[in-house]
Amino acid sequence: MSRYKISNFEEYFKEYKKSIKDPKKFWDKIASENFTWYQEWDKVVDFNMAEAEIKWFVDAKVNITKNCIDRHLAKKGDKTAIIFEPNNPDEASQSITYNELHQRVSKMANVLLSQGIQKGDRVCIYLPMIPELAITTLACARIGAIHSVVFAGFSASAVAARINDSECKMVITSDGGYRGNKTIDLKGIVDEALVNCPSVETVLVAQRTNTDIQMKEGRDLWLAPLVEKASDNNAAEIMDAEDPLFILYTSGSTGKPKGMVHTTAGYMVYTAYTFQNVFNYEENDVFWCTADIGWITGHSYILYGPLLNGATTVIFEGVPSYPDFSRFWEVIEKHKVNQFYTAPTAIRALAKESLDYVQKYPLSSLKVIGSVGEPINEEAWHWYNDHVGGKRCPVVDTWWQTETGGILISPIPFITPTKPTYATLPLPGIQAVLMDEKRNEIEDNQVVGSLCIKYPWPGIARTIWGDHKRYKETYFSTFPGKYFSGDGALRDEVGYYRITGRVDDVIIVSGHNLGTAPIEDAINEHPAVAESAIVGFPHDIKGNALYGFVILKETGEKRDKANLAKEINQHIADHIGPIAKLDKIQFVSGLPKTRSGKIMRRILRKIAEGDFSNFGDTTTLLNPEIVEEIKNGKL
Ligand code: ATP
Ligand code: MG
Repeated sequence: MSRYKISNFEEYFKEYKKSIKDPKKFWDKIASENFTWYQEWDKVVDFNMAEAEIKWFVDAKVNITKNCIDRHLAKKGDKTAIIFEPNNPDEASQSITYNELHQRVSKMANVLLSQGIQKGDRVCIYLPMIPELAITTLACARIGAIHSVVFAGFSASAVAARINDSECKMVITSDGGYRGNKTIDLKGIVDEALVNCPSVETVLVAQRTNTDIQMKEGRDLWLAPLVEKASDNNAAEIMDAEDPLFILYTSGSTGKPKGMVHTTAGYMVYTAYTFQNVFNYEENDVFWCTADIGWITGHSYILYGPLLNGATTVIFEGVPSYPDFSRFWEVIEKHKVNQFYTAPTAIRALAKESLDYVQKYPLSSLKVIGSVGEPINEEAWHWYNDHVGGKRCPVVDTWWQTETGGILISPIPFITPTKPTYATLPLPGIQAVLMDEKRNEIEDNQVVGSLCIKYPWPGIARTIWGDHKRYKETYFSTFPGKYFSGDGALRDEVGYYRITGRVDDVIIVSGHNLGTAPIEDAINEHPAVAESAIVGFPHDIKGNALYGFVILKETGEKRDKANLAKEINQHIADHIGPIAKLDKIQFVSGLPKTRSGKIMRRILRKIAEGDFSNFGDTTTLLNPEIVEEIKNGKL
């Protein structure tokens, strides 16, 4: 057991108090007792929040892969580090031990060096969820190249935009990727993207689908032969604590994606600490996070957090619906997964299907189940708790962002009593506050406000690549001296936090401040409703009125829509109050979502307003066709 593990509620409060009273001492101890450093820091933290300047473990020297891999070798070289579960259940899964991971990452690091990649160069990784994705990402970190992993579902223009924004010198991709019953032509997408990317000199291509692809002479190289002849001896680069580790673009739910820059030491300490405490990882547990490594959740809780703790982590190539809706549950059973971490969008999609899929499997290995990405509505929470967790696994509803590097607010399993839809309490080191419209900190409980953090934590992003001004303006200017998350929250009588949605999505109806999440939560409680999204639209008398987009379950689709609309409004009136009733309800077959599964409310808002002219940046949209459908079906 690591030395930073919290073991009871009293200890949580004690640790929390300590972390607030003397954050430097708190993080100093965690950092020095649990990691391998080439050189320790002169100062734990140095910051000026007003200027958005933050440094942790100043002047320390470290390599994160030494901490993820090398230091485990003596005691657990033969332990499985990564379980790879392919898209197709008929294909054998693979286990990669820490020894093998060390060898493969070292070889890959030497390949990158041999191709002229140096410390500080940017490398774009556009790979499916196969072992090479983890290995190339870690290889970049080993030599100090800055990885920019781009989710392998993005279009050529989205890939090109990300490559150009950070001027990547290399792209690592594969001949193709499997996703459910589809094969995706990743190399073709890269070729198309690179027509407009002058900075890219080399493309390394991993083999996955054996698709017949074009290799461009002088630019493209197959990865396997290079790895084959590379030495497996690689001395990790000595990195400064504040050297950038990676760039990762946000989901783009609210606008143009931001290239968040995370640096080395702080991110390492924070992801390791939060992984241990939020998931209660115990030696020999198998941890599975279903996110893609292309999102921050995958970076922090498939790769870095688990490996830093010497854990066994699952990389799953497939989707929850292939070959059928029992795939997740089958994988849990097959690998005896102990901690399972997924998103509300997946939970809702699976809850819509027959219970037989999940009930076929006992899922008795599970100990902790987690949720991330969006507010989890009450109905989905209960479904998850009852049918997946068997009412015995704490549900950790983890609130955080690409910008925060790791989880900030979450229950600690078996310690913090959970409450549906509440992310509950800030983790030690996180000084969460709510701010009112007048920019004052709200001291009371049972209030709503803008969720801010008033002291830096090690995992916070340091800047937006190439645009520090935007970083400062977006996160540190609205409430000077504080980090502003952009999310709103409610704090209940005991101090638990419930995320109510983005502050920009809050709708003021007749002077009442309504968050999107609690209203959607009430709508989703109606037995005929699968999912919903609400937005505001201008109204002569009320200022704003509410427009609801509602997806029905199969049972609801057969019913009279006018009656259903009335029932839904009655339901809202009963659960929240008549003030939150919807003026308009449109039944739809889907909602516009980002590729990470979040509802893009800004598009719905435009549709509700009847403004079809400019939907803004939609490159991260998963299902553009639904936008047309909703537009055409507008009331
Ligand atoms: P962009 O910043 O480009 O608009 P994004 O905010 O969707 O995109 P991410 O960093 O992937 O990009 O998502 C973070 C956001 O997801 C949070 O700000 C919050 O709105 C939401 N979120 C994440 N986890 C939770 C949770 N447990 N409960 C409620 N909301 C959550
Ligand atoms: Mg965001």
